[in-house]
Amino acid sequence: MKVFLSVDMEGISGVAVSNHVSPEHKEYERFRKLMTADANAAVEGAVSAGATEVLVVDSHGPMTNILIEELDSRARLISGSNKYYCQMEGIDGSFGAVFFVGYHAREGASDGVLNHTLLGRTVYELRCNGKPVNEAILNAGIAGDHGVPVALVTGDDQVCAETREALGDVEAAVVKRAVDRFTADCLPLERSRALIREAAARAVERAPRLRPYHVPGPVTFEVDFKGTAEAHMAAVFPFVRRVGPRTVAVTGENYLEAFRLLWGTLIIARASAAGVI
Ligand SMILES: [Zn+2]
Repeated sequence: MKVFLSVDMEGISGVAVSNHVSPEHKEYERFRKLMTADANAAVEGAVSAGATEVLVVDSHGPMTNILIEELDSRARLISGSNKYYCQMEGIDGSFGAVFFVGYHAREGASDGVLNHTLLGRTVYELRCNGKPVNEAILNAGIAGDHGVPVALVTGDDQVCAETREALGDVEAAVVKRAVDRFTADCLPLERSRALIREAAARAVERAPRLRPYHVPGPVTFEVDFKGTAEAHMAAVFPFVRRVGPRTVAVTGENYLEAFRLLWGTLIIARASAAGVI
């Protein structure tokens, strides 16, 4: 079985505050090593349960966080951020399971550690067919269009609860308890990595019996931005409907098409939040 491993950073073992995940801050160098170690724990668990191939997709910020020199040699790595499918670049129907490692809760729904949705400075809330989604649920729909189930989520207690509520009984490794958006009660690293390894192995074993999260078309995404400028400039595209002062909507015939319209819209919105030039 091939495993697709999308790795974000806010839900990595030990991460509690923004400085830990911001390349400009000196603390970041410590935490990108921890990010690579959590990814390795998932690779090790997957391979121990029979995974034959693992694709790791760096899915945080500039998407160049994972240290390839420390990555398990049984995995390949997609590094870099110019991608049509963002945190899901490279997914196709040849994979048997999707893992979300180091994920975080959506903005505003809980005290989840570093809770935000996709672009923290730009997006206030993102809805798929009217329902607010976090990044795991958003990305599960992309995998679902390829017929691939989500089998594992790792992060704090809040992201694991949100994701299981939406996707059903996927494996979860809770590596920390959210105290506040900027405070976490963290397990020691040895224990959290063991949890990830064990959950990853169970996820590979259970994946053939899990149902892909398929959202039938047409699919509509609505975005509430933090400001009005983002909504104003996103509507430069005729396919973007401005449905409120800070809200736009896009509709695609199927999930993959809708996601691409959404992602393009978000890129324009972010670029214009403080003036295009
Ligand atoms: Zn992130």
